[in-house]
Amino acid sequence: MSIMTSDFKVCIIGSGIAGSLAALKLQEREVDVTVLEAGSWEDSLIDSTFYEVYDRFPWLKNLAFKIPGFTYPWVDSERDRFTNSGEREYDINKRRHKGIGGTVGRIKPIWHGWAIRPYPEDFNKNSEFDFGADWPLSYRDLEPYYFEAEQEMAVAGRADNPYRDREEYPIQKPKFDDLEQVFSPLEDQNILNIHSIPIATDPDTNDLSLFTTNSHIQRGIDEGVDYISNAVVRRLRTGDQGDRIDSVLYTKNGETRNLCADHFVVAAGGIESARLLLLSKNTEHPTGIANSSGCVGKYFMEHPMLKVTGDLEDPRRDILSEEANGELVSHEYYKPSEENPHSIMIGFRKQSGKEVSLLGVTEMAPQENNRISLNKKVTDDYNEPVPDISLSFNDRNTAALERVEKILLELCEILNVKVKSIHGPENPIYVNHHIGTTRMGDDPDTSVVNRNLRTHDIRNLSIISSSVFPTGFGVNPTLTIAALSLRAVDHICEQLGK
Ligand SMILES: Cc1cc2nc3c(=O)[nH]c(=O)nc-3n(C[C@H](O)[C@H](O)[C@H](O)COP(=O)(O)OP(=O)(O)OC[C@H]3O[C@@H](n4cnc5c(N)ncnc54)[C@H](O)[C@@H]3O)c2cc1C
Repeated sequence: MSIMTSDFKVCIIGSGIAGSLAALKLQEREVDVTVLEAGSWEDSLIDSTFYEVYDRFPWLKNLAFKIPGFTYPWVDSERDRFTNSGEREYDINKRRHKGIGGTVGRIKPIWHGWAIRPYPEDFNKNSEFDFGADWPLSYRDLEPYYFEAEQEMAVAGRADNPYRDREEYPIQKPKFDDLEQVFSPLEDQNILNIHSIPIATDPDTNDLSLFTTNSHIQRGIDEGVDYISNAVVRRLRTGDQGDRIDSVLYTKNGETRNLCADHFVVAAGGIESARLLLLSKNTEHPTGIANSSGCVGKYFMEHPMLKVTGDLEDPRRDILSEEANGELVSHEYYKPSEENPHSIMIGFRKQSGKEVSLLGVTEMAPQENNRISLNKKVTDDYNEPVPDISLSFNDRNTAALERVEKILLELCEILNVKVKSIHGPENPIYVNHHIGTTRMGDDPDTSVVNRNLRTHDIRNLSIISSSVFPTGFGVNPTLTIAALSLRAVDHICEQLGK
């Protein structure tokens, strides 16, 4: 164990993968880090099963709230209150986790571990396809950080994606022969190519169990990171000039305290990061901290997913043995074009027996009216306005979802899958990705953070989260969050002269 002390102190708000990875890397570079986390160490015992039960039996939640003293272990009725004002209902508490280690999970995984890099063309979709907003960074800028993130997250993959020029992954993933055979007619008939999914695994074991934040948190603690649990950050406070954050105000066990630091990092996830900036408004920043552009909270994006489930009415169903687990994807429809700029990822999954599912994950375009704002009429356990999520689809989103539905049904026909249920364009599934509410850009008039994730308005404040993504890509966000976290650390160290 090497506990270091340094002249510089960084305070990170949130201990998910964004916060815990940044904390470890800063402390390794001799910057003292304190992490303030709203959730507890005990909350980190929750795993994905709880989320699946909650998802399948939502009425249990309402019942639980009516029994005095009983709440879902990870959702407190008052602490986690929210409202919806858009056309779409969006339950954030199914889709995030408050606890040391965040939504990825610390002791057991909550997430599914898909760790897929975007493609170079994902970063300039506006200039190339008149879609969304360009990233101020290119894929090349991030490539070394993707490489490092994949090492940190022990990503297991196979170089079998014909759409990607890729040689190898840190860990070689086994082949799902059975599952590949089941879906092989699609390749045999030249409809599309199917390939494996890179998965983040536990860096401390060799058994391909899913990645959790535990390893980084433990290594961070060994280096000297101070994790403070049950510490709900309520305000970022600026000094007299309003150009620096002097301290944060947080409440722990009913007591409100102040914590000073040289640099602050908001890593509180795609919803709470924006909410905290808005809550922290003051005389110098009347619309919220880092909000001179008015963009904080705006351009919220998810990845709406359609799902078709059915029975395989074909001799190939005998291949669907117990071993035929796992999931496969196709990026055949990922490449954007002028006609279809939304990237689409198709997934193939064995359910049970002869039942299979085909999934279609779609990219959303950033829209100003899809946003997180403060609902002053409804308050949480600290009497603070709760986050309101406004989510609606425009015509382009709907057209993309209709296209996906058509693709999935055509594929089912080719595969001889008798369709039993569909989550279609009118009731898509959301895949728990909170993107875009503190967008990154070069122009301070239209973005919240610069390309180094430092806020345009305040020199000693950075944001690390999928909230900074200007567009959401068609792949899962967490590998990119980790890559951005590593890149932000370089810039914070440079700024601190480390
Ligand atoms: C069921 C499920 C499956 C998923 N599967 C995948 C997948 O396969 N691949 C993928 O890429 N992504 C997946 N995701 C999404 C992934 O989990 C998130 O992208 C990722 O965890 C976000 O990390 P983060 O560190 O930015 O935020 P979080 O992990 O959400 O961490 C934010 C932390 O900040 C804390 N916090 C919030 N407000 C405050 C405050 N005011 N004061 C102090 N602390 C605060 C929270 O308690 C939380 O612990 C999945 C999510 C779910 C729910």
